Amino acid sequence: MRPKAIGLLAVGVVALALVVDDRGLSADATSAGARVVVLGTGNPAADPERSGPAVAVVVNDRAYLVDCGPGVVRRAAAAEKNGIPALKARDLNIVFITHLHSDHTLGYPDLIFSPWVLGRKAPLEAFGPQGLKAMTEHIEAAWREDVDVRQHGFEQGNATGYRVNVHAIRPGVVYRDGNVTVTAFPVKHGNWKEAYGFTFATRDRRIVISGDTAPTDEVVKACDGCDVLLHEAYNPHGEELKEAHWKEYFRTFHTSPAELGDIARRAHPRLLVVYHQSLEGLPESDLVDQIKREYTGPWVSAKDLGVY
Ligand SMILES: [Zn+2]
Ligand SMILES: [Zn+2]
Repeated sequence: MRPKAIGLLAVGVVALALVVDDRGLSADATSAGARVVVLGTGNPAADPERSGPAVAVVVNDRAYLVDCGPGVVRRAAAAEKNGIPALKARDLNIVFITHLHSDHTLGYPDLIFSPWVLGRKAPLEAFGPQGLKAMTEHIEAAWREDVDVRQHGFEQGNATGYRVNVHAIRPGVVYRDGNVTVTAFPVKHGNWKEAYGFTFATRDRRIVISGDTAPTDEVVKACDGCDVLLHEAYNPHGEELKEAHWKEYFRTFHTSPAELGDIARRAHPRLLVVYHQSLEGLPESDLVDQIKREYTGPWVSAKDLGVY
């Protein structure tokens, strides 16, 4: 197994994520304690290297998902193969959804039904904005016949694992168990009425996930020296950005490298993980170079199945 360095790290990145082996596991991340597994770094672009946006915070034997873009269950299965048993597909049973943009939720039916078909007995616990309940009810209605056939035919599917307990969230603590306390904070995502970021506080780490957002002090407040800050970013050099409406879209929905630098300097995370990169048709290196100029702290540009 030939270790390969992440070539895109800024100077000063500590051993924490410097060397990633062929399974995407860094030396430090394989040790016990909370880990962040980036299942998908993508966005609506159908980039085969970047699955739909989804992240797992893995604590002890349990995986806590954030968002469920297309491909989420298969990417979790890939992470399991990479040596993270908590991401076994049929054990996926809890998700925190930042907002209801389709690229973040197209894997929701997958997360509801696939683990059940594979044997999950517990209902899915889903936390998210107000509209999540209606979305869930529509999905349940759309697949009603499938559930009936699988449950009452030779498959003998169980009567519980396809169900979803939806929890509408507000800013504040939204979930707590023996592993983790999850706190939601509001972010600024254009004209979405509700969009959230999440803080995962575990015994050993504080992990903050921005969700989709234009720059906001809420992220700075939530992180405040956190261990890992996952933050989104877009490349303002993209061709699309020459059009006024797209420029305004990115300005109000997402975060530029200059804005990210400012956020990170004030949030001072031990490690910044740039994820959900909107590359805008340009090579990743173009975005990376811009961020390097704006931020000299420890950071990394996330890859699918990267562990941080
Ligand atoms: Zn979004
Ligand atoms: Zn997005």
